Amino acid sequence: MPVATSSRRKPTLRRQNSEEIEDTRPTQAPASNEDVSDEDQPRHNGRVKREKKGKGKQRAETDDEETAGLAAAAADDDDEDDDDRIDVANFPNQPFGKLEAVKLKGISEDWDNMRNLIGQHWEIYRDVASAMAETGERDFESSESLRELDRDMKEFIDVGAEMGAHSQALNDMHQQIIRGEIVANAQARYEDGLKAILDQYAGKTTRQKYARDERYQHFHASIWEVHHPEQPMPPLTEFIDKETGDDSGEDDDLEIGGVTQNFVCPLSLTPLLNPVTSKVCKHSFSADAIKDYCRDPRKAYKCPAAGCNKSFKLSDCVADTALAKKVKAQRRRIEAAAADSDAEEVVD
Ligand SMILES: [Zn+2]
Repeated sequence: MPVATSSRRKPTLRRQNSEEIEDTRPTQAPASNEDVSDEDQPRHNGRVKREKKGKGKQRAETDDEETAGLAAAAADDDDEDDDDRIDVANFPNQPFGKLEAVKLKGISEDWDNMRNLIGQHWEIYRDVASAMAETGERDFESSESLRELDRDMKEFIDVGAEMGAHSQALNDMHQQIIRGEIVANAQARYEDGLKAILDQYAGKTTRQKYARDERYQHFHASIWEVHHPEQPMPPLTEFIDKETGDDSGEDDDLEIGGVTQNFVCPLSLTPLLNPVTSKVCKHSFSADAIKDYCRDPRKAYKCPAAGCNKSFKLSDCVADTALAKKVKAQRRRIEAAAADSDAEEVVD
């Protein structure tokens, strides 16, 4: 208590001291001096108020201390004398019950949350790739720096997959308990489950690991767009060599796929303006055009993008600032290219 009191009083004392120093002369010649009485009055009131506040605080602090003391006492009472009854040496491995199942689910979700949180930052790789391309790094074949970044991007995806494996292994155990299976030897079971999932991932080919990953596609596209502003990017299989395990049938959709970024709204057939992207199928449109198209906001409409058979509501389309940035960058590149060719013509 004395510590709290002195620390609370200190600022008041210091203020009083400085006031006294400033006011030395006026205080010695009081009342008759108008300046002094004017100054003195509010200062006095102020001091009274401060003291009142101080008292209030003091009371609050005492209350707090009492509650804290009670809590501490309660904690002390809560002794772990139950432990004595458990014979640890002969305590058999208990199967998990429903309560543990819920906990497993919770930990599994923690992994997912962590994965999502970290995964959100993949755009750094895309933006760095784009910036490097802007400063002259042309492609993976010619640039060791881009290859290095590519390895980092893949590692980033691998880490996400590993975190997903933890989540899945825990979730599998949760499912087993829910189904009524007996899950004992939890640690071994978790480790085995995790290893099986990680082994399966490790056995995948480069194409299987990354070519379908949307982030990886955008990463590649961000480099491609800089040097080929008016050409859609070829499928990623062009960039990733076939490995044993990549049978031709399996990545048919990759051959057709790839990211085609032409930045034209399929409705207005003009460059995207305030682009929005459908959460359902990832197709993008100019905001005004899709608003006209999905006239009734309660109804789902067939996606107007060529070859897309998905349907969505207007509320499924969200503003796509990343795409807006790309559209802008592409316009800038096209203009720069046009200016270059104009300049050449003038020289000729
Ligand atoms: Zn679509």
